[in-house]
Amino acid sequence: MEDCIFCKIVDGKIPAARVYEDDKVISFLDIMPANKGHCLVVPKKHSQTLIEMNEDDLVATINAAKKIARALSLSFGNGSFNIVMNNGKEAGQVVNHAHIHLIPRFQKDRLRIKWSHLKYEGDEIKEYADKIRKFI
Ligand code: 5GP
Ligand code: ZN
Repeated sequence: MEDCIFCKIVDGKIPAARVYEDDKVISFLDIMPANKGHCLVVPKKHSQTLIEMNEDDLVATINAAKKIARALSLSFGNGSFNIVMNNGKEAGQVVNHAHIHLIPRFQKDRLRIKWSHLKYEGDEIKEYADKIRKFI
């Protein structure tokens, strides 16, 4: 994909602090980390979101994420990390090449990934489940 920054990193056209690479996936440090050590795990094949990713790339990407999470924990982490994937503009996706964020967590870090909780009224929860199930 022309003009895709992560495709350019995959192709070696722009530099990145790489931590992992195999035939389907690369991982490098996020240039503006939520915490130091924040890695991006990126399928080499361009897809915009999770939904477009094929099964092989999905499996390779989540397996790589696990490998890197372990390395993060062993190197300077403590076994705590968040996995985040932003899909689509409203979800905060800025780089339109599917990727997983792997963010190490530390005692008293200032990162907040918690959300406030809404409530379903009456049968609403069942209606939501019925609607989603129809499209599975
Ligand atoms: P998104 O909001 O799309 O899920 O996250 C994109 C992430 O990519 C951001 O956290 C941002 O800091 C990171 N990023 C954007 N451009 C570059 C770049 O050129 N190099 C690296 N290493 N990270 C980048
Ligand atoms: Zn791309």
